[in-house]
Amino acid sequence: MNVETLINFAYIVASILFIFGLKMLGRQSTARRGNLISSLGMLLAVVVTLFAQEVVSYQWILVGLGVGAVIGLACARLIKMTSMPEMVALLNGFGGLASLLVGWAEYAKTLAGGEASSTFTGTVIFLAVFIGGITFTGSLYAFGKLSGKLSGKPVLFGGQQIVNGGLVLGLVVAGGLYVINGGAPGMGTNAFYACLAIAFILGITMVMPIGGGDMPVVISMLNSLSGLAACAAGFVILNNVLIVAGCLVGTSGVILTIIMCKAMNRSLANVLFSGFGSDGAAAGGEGSTIEGELKPISAEDSFAVLEAARNVVIVPGYGMAVSQAQHVVRELAEMLENNGAEVRFAIHPVAGRMPGHMNVLLAEANVPYEQLVEMDSINPQMPMVDVAVVIGANDVVNPAAARDQSSPIYGMPIIKAHEAHTVICLKRGKGAGFSGIENQLFLLPNTRMLYGDAKASLQGVVSEFKAIAEA
Ligand code: NAP
Repeated sequence: MNVETLINFAYIVASILFIFGLKMLGRQSTARRGNLISSLGMLLAVVVTLFAQEVVSYQWILVGLGVGAVIGLACARLIKMTSMPEMVALLNGFGGLASLLVGWAEYAKTLAGGEASSTFTGTVIFLAVFIGGITFTGSLYAFGKLSGKLSGKPVLFGGQQIVNGGLVLGLVVAGGLYVINGGAPGMGTNAFYACLAIAFILGITMVMPIGGGDMPVVISMLNSLSGLAACAAGFVILNNVLIVAGCLVGTSGVILTIIMCKAMNRSLANVLFSGFGSDGAAAGGEGSTIEGELKPISAEDSFAVLEAARNVVIVPGYGMAVSQAQHVVRELAEMLENNGAEVRFAIHPVAGRMPGHMNVLLAEANVPYEQLVEMDSINPQMPMVDVAVVIGANDVVNPAAARDQSSPIYGMPIIKAHEAHTVICLKRGKGAGFSGIENQLFLLPNTRMLYGDAKASLQGVVSEFKAIAEA
């Protein structure tokens, strides 16, 4: 068996590990192991690739490995869970850039060799460069929006879709010229750089009109694009495992994008082109006048309500992540159970700031998986729930999505916390949710507001339980 056959055999094993790893990521109880198995697959793929004859410089690979490992380790230790979406946006962007550079390097190689690229090679170089370019600048822009360095509001201007359409057309024409000319100096080279420039611009102009609230969908779409760019790069250098890994990232990104669009009851086209969250849209529709008053409740009174409850549903949201309240939430849940109540956690697919955000935090706090209930399963039971405790969630429990046809979020599925007999909402003040839309839940007659940082408020309630237990 020669080295190439051995390498390809190892690639098959690595691909199988990727697929098993991905499958295990689908369940909370197996997700950590899935991550480890996928990482092992990647390690195997990287190690056997180093045996390939085409490796040009082991020294530079070692330098890259060292620098990458230091940056990766620092990020893993320093980046807060709440900043993960920004981190993912950057990782997608650099993935796209890497594929672009692979395509560019292959083009430079053919140019230096003085030979024209075949139609196939020209096409895959074009794909790696244009998809990688869009992914790179689009992800950097998304990073800017998510991190607050750029405004989260959609940037809209007249004729925007015509401009974007023109850019796409320009890209197709330049790409066609590049492939037809085989990248030959002159027309081929000009077409190549035109593709590069248009892809960079298009990445920005595509993300510009999308509001901060829709960024999770954009991130997952860019994730998918980074996979497709990697797949194209795999075809450029004829590396089987890169093709497989790229396809897996590409398709899983598409699946996640579809799931998130469904969770918001919107089409991908609506997310990409509606300018959701712009001044006109985010304020709410004409019929969205919100009436009622906010009724505060103290930690002592919250305790009294919860102590009498037999059926409690906890709805966590972004505020739980901000205040890092997951451990004290678990403590409260245990106390409620010891008091004879049934406790469940209602998980909205886009609660927090990244897919699975709440699941990760609650798993970190050792909340049993069985207590986590998905939105569709918990909603029919909400009218039978004594108390819904909404911890730093806002958009995902906004009844306007179900009731107010003029609301920009009308139709988005929500956790129907308002149907519980009593709702206790924990938040610091009158801050709106990510989408900037007001929430009628807070003004309903059965809702009480427990103001303050979620962790501190919960500690107040927990200490009441402890005081009773010790008395
Ligand atoms: P949300 O609508 O953003 O609301 C969070 C609420 O938490 C705010 O109203 C805020 O009110 C409160 N809060 C913040 N810090 C707090 C603290 N320390 N203690 C107590 N409360 C605190 O959150 P959500 O209901 O989870 O909805 C998620 C939103 O983010 C959706 O619009 C979704 O589309 C979007 N999004 C989701 C993802 C994802 O993938 N999951 C990614 C990006 C964006 P106060 O300021 O008054 O405290």
